[in-house]
Amino acid sequence: MPPVRRLAWVLVALLVGAAALLSAGPSSLVDWRAMRAIAIESDDWGLCGFVPSVTAWEGLRHEDLSPGRFPAVYWNSTLEDSAAVASLAAVLQSHRGRDGLPAVLQPNYIVSSQAYEDGVWRRHDLPDLPRAYARPGMWRAVGDAARAGVWHPEFHGAWHYDPRLQRQAIADAPQLVAAAARGIMLFPGSEAARELGPWRSTPQLAAELDTALAVFGRAFGRAPGSIIAPDYTWDGRVEALWQSRELAVIQAKREQRHPDYPSGLAGRVLKVLERQWARAAHPRRTYLERNCRLEPVQSPDPREVVAACVRDTERAWRRGEPAIVESHRVNFAHADRSFEEAGRDGLAGYLAGATTLPSGPPVFLVDAEVAALAGRGTSLRAGPGAWVARNGTHARRVAWLPPAEDGVGRMATLLLLDSGCARRLDVHDAR
Ligand SMILES: [Zn+2]
Repeated sequence: MPPVRRLAWVLVALLVGAAALLSAGPSSLVDWRAMRAIAIESDDWGLCGFVPSVTAWEGLRHEDLSPGRFPAVYWNSTLEDSAAVASLAAVLQSHRGRDGLPAVLQPNYIVSSQAYEDGVWRRHDLPDLPRAYARPGMWRAVGDAARAGVWHPEFHGAWHYDPRLQRQAIADAPQLVAAAARGIMLFPGSEAARELGPWRSTPQLAAELDTALAVFGRAFGRAPGSIIAPDYTWDGRVEALWQSRELAVIQAKREQRHPDYPSGLAGRVLKVLERQWARAAHPRRTYLERNCRLEPVQSPDPREVVAACVRDTERAWRRGEPAIVESHRVNFAHADRSFEEAGRDGLAGYLAGATTLPSGPPVFLVDAEVAALAGRGTSLRAGPGAWVARNGTHARRVAWLPPAEDGVGRMATLLLLDSGCARRLDVHDAR
């Protein structure tokens, strides 16, 4: 072949490849315009930070901790307690979708913490909590909310920060040791000390993931169905590890941070290429993009945040996407109770707005349902006390309810689901 012609063929191949790469995106068996789905993702639950209470700051200065870029409202962000969980659950329960099922929150959990207690670092795995973060009755409130179908725990990570960097950072600095002894989680440079940073070895991350998933399973009685990396920082190794552990529904791919990419335009282009490559090369992974932001306590105008979130919800539907709402724990658990109230009011306002739109009410889904409906047309949401089976297609479909994991009670069951149906299955009925 003459060199010019060969070059032309190479160019054509490159163009076709680039077009395939850039157009790679999610395909779905479900019409999300008609489905009008809302999934709510909330990070940082279970995180024993950033302070146990406002009194922990007495005699200490924020400046001594110099964590890096840190939004003001987070200085008094704290671990949720029973009242915070129960009041939030009540808000969720009072708003229902068109299928009669209530709004459901996906609290993304950090499952372990290291606490500086009696002069040594001690590890605590959920449901165990450090002494400074005692929360009587909290797990009962979580269990009640889960049984009511409004609380669907998902996975955020093991520690949130690289635990070794946290231990190293406070060594020999009396102010920092004092802060750690009081349960303050911040330390110099903590903002950049991300749990899944590129400096951490793959075997170490694999072992940490296995332990964290075992902790999650013991705490919540099932494996997680979706994941969000701490501080949006992860890489291809980490995604491969997640997938090898059946964690293939990945939240907020568009927010992904790559600390080792160059800054500026080159970094942004690399990021887009990486994302498109991941979509094209890993069809078994589901990437869910957060397309609605509900962070009222971080704004001087919470009402506008709520109104914008309702508008973005409708826009997502019009684009043919489920509305994926981001709302961090800091809106609902805070050492200053007035923030909790503002956050709950914001959520209540959003749910009231989104369930009374003139175009009709929505349905509330969890990430795993979004992924299953897109891929298979049907979904099963596992929960304590009840399962929810759905068929999002226009045809009658069969779904498979697996046997109880403990091997006693419920047998494997085939379900016939009518088009567009949502069925709540009491676990006892399914036996
Ligand atoms: Zn987080």
